[in-house]
Amino acid sequence: MILNYAYRLYPDAQQVELLSEWLETCRLSYNYALRELKDWIASRKCPIDRCSLESEYIMAADYPFPGYHQQQNNLPKAKKKFPRLKAAPSQVLQTNIRRLHDGWDFFQKRGYGFPRFKKYGQMKSVLFPQFKSNPLSDWEVQLPKLGKVRINLHRPIPEGFVVKQVRVVKKAVGWFGVLAIQSALDIPSPVPHGHAIGIDVGLLSYVATRDGYTEARPKFFQTAYRRLKVLQKRLSRKMKGGKNYEKGRIKVAKQHNHIGFKRTDYQFKLAHKLCDLADTIYVEDCDFRIMAKGMLGKHTIDAGFGQLRSILEYVATKRDVFVGRVDHRGTSQTCPNCRTAVQKDLSVRRHECRECGYVVDRDIASGQEICNRGEETYRGTPEKQEIDERPRVGARRKGTRSSWLSSRTVGEFYSR
Ligand SMILES: [Zn+2]
Repeated sequence: MILNYAYRLYPDAQQVELLSEWLETCRLSYNYALRELKDWIASRKCPIDRCSLESEYIMAADYPFPGYHQQQNNLPKAKKKFPRLKAAPSQVLQTNIRRLHDGWDFFQKRGYGFPRFKKYGQMKSVLFPQFKSNPLSDWEVQLPKLGKVRINLHRPIPEGFVVKQVRVVKKAVGWFGVLAIQSALDIPSPVPHGHAIGIDVGLLSYVATRDGYTEARPKFFQTAYRRLKVLQKRLSRKMKGGKNYEKGRIKVAKQHNHIGFKRTDYQFKLAHKLCDLADTIYVEDCDFRIMAKGMLGKHTIDAGFGQLRSILEYVATKRDVFVGRVDHRGTSQTCPNCRTAVQKDLSVRRHECRECGYVVDRDIASGQEICNRGEETYRGTPEKQEIDERPRVGARRKGTRSSWLSSRTVGEFYSR
């Protein structure tokens, strides 16, 4: 089981300088490797009987594709030519190339998202992929070639977990270390069991469950946005490229960070709350980016539904709650009671069925319909074997933070 814990880092001036230098080195080598990749692709694209209008490298037909291993093996040679590469840890450079090829593989699989060149300052993180011994002491983390960096371990690493990787991330508010921690314990992925709910997300009520639990949409922006607007206005009056422009830009970026942190924090708390309410949760399989293209786009992006869904899935795995995705089409246009289609506009906030006379709040009706679909979709999957006599449904686990992992072995593991 792998978890990601994020902590604030406080590198000193010398370490900041080193890290910034490595980020830039990573950016340049990333761009170089991407150029190689692009040249190879362009040389294969050119028609055989005529030349393309743009100039392109002509490569021999048997010239191998610059894959990950080839580019990685070229790094030691490149180091002789460019001494700058020697300054950065070699594993950092390797994982950086790996990152490019992950992007390329993603593009191959999905058909979109071709890796792009990174402009100055766009490379934001470096990854230290391997540690021979525990890099953590009370206040510091030991990183290769960087030495001891001050870290705020506000949250202890759970017993039995070891630090696998550290990603150092640069943000406007400061430096962060994302620690990937792993335990040898293998936790079976949750299966549908117990009390099931469907969750409908929306702009009026942020979530609405089948049981009638609704939560109003928190307006992260409405409060923080006012400040952002002021800062952006001030920035627009500065001379571009000047010192004051840079100062203003950082202030705007910090405000964006602030809003983002608030949102993530809220979503983690909400995810835990939802896991308190049920053992099985069904969500819609929407592509929320399409929803964000609509009229209330700004608010949809602010709400971050996609992020909520992935956070919910992450939290649910830890807490042995099953999360299933169901078809989202027409969930709000179907009566959850008798399953006939009931057409209604967005402005109609109550669901009233003409067939069976079922009346309920619109969002809750969608939640119920999502739950119906979930139970149909995942009916074939095997039921969970009860291995302990923990109390069933609803009442359990409420407000008890220590019992967030519920299978017995894990429960013992975490009894702190
Ligand atoms: Zn009905």
